[in-house]
Amino acid sequence: NTVIDAHNLVKIYDEKTIPVYALNGVHLHIERGEFTAIKGPSGSGKTTLLNMIGGLDEPTSGYVEINGTNITKMKGSALIDFRLHNIGFVFQSYNLIPVLTAKENIEFIMLLQKTPTKERETRVMELLKQVGIADKANKRPPELSGGQQQRVAVARALAPKPQFILADEPTANLDSVSAGNLLDMMLQLNKEENMTFIFSTHDQRVIERARRVITLEDGKIVKDTAPISVMHAG
Ligand code: ADP
Ligand code: ADP
Repeated sequence: NTVIDAHNLVKIYDEKTIPVYALNGVHLHIERGEFTAIKGPSGSGKTTLLNMIGGLDEPTSGYVEINGTNITKMKGSALIDFRLHNIGFVFQSYNLIPVLTAKENIEFIMLLQKTPTKERETRVMELLKQVGIADKANKRPPELSGGQQQRVAVARALAPKPQFILADEPTANLDSVSAGNLLDMMLQLNKEENMTFIFSTHDQRVIERARRVITLEDGKIVKDTAPISVMHAG
């Protein structure tokens, strides 16, 4: 069951002056239930690749299919709507709304989607439990630790039941204990809900726990492998 099919992605920045090939012919195939890390040195194209897969930016050439839908030529509200229903985003800086509680941050998309109140309430409580912060429902982001804020961000990303979660350096601002706990939680969601995760990271301890590791260098995939220790790591 293919979730993502990226075909020959090329992304060139500054085409008119000194062209930068942020991506230079990337093919990527992701199946449902994968737990994939994208690593590589700074500037290797990790963020650019995630932006292409997430429909946040258009490739110079090539295309991306999500669940069989080509998103590369989608525009405006159609693309926004597709993203909202199909892709969950988690960023390194949490991107939560500081004046809303954890619960309200998670509810936000469901409100936009006009999910009936009762269903919304049930879903929010289920999500808070899944990410291990049911007791923090009414706290605002400034009252939460980095690890807890990132859990809210993951719950918010899961709320519309997306096809997959894209996370750009999700543990970058966390200490190693909180980073490990966040990974435990993501792996549990992967196992129990068969949620597909694709995340970029620099963190070797995070990389060690991925089921599949893709290495980028100079905008190309130079390695794509499944590490051994995965299932029993940690
Ligand atoms: P990574 O996430 O691995 O650090 P990026 O995808 O951010 O890599 O960047 C890949 C290359 O593209 C780098 O050389 C970077 O400088 C360049 N780049 C990224 N975004 C832009 C942009 N908006 N304008 C110009 N160059 C960019
Ligand atoms: P922090 O960044 O503050 O250390 P963590 O990510 O470690 O936050 O934990 C966030 C929340 O999840 C806390 O409320 C903590 O009690 C709870 N938690 C952490 N690990 C577990 C676990 N293994 N099982 C259940 N709850 C947990």
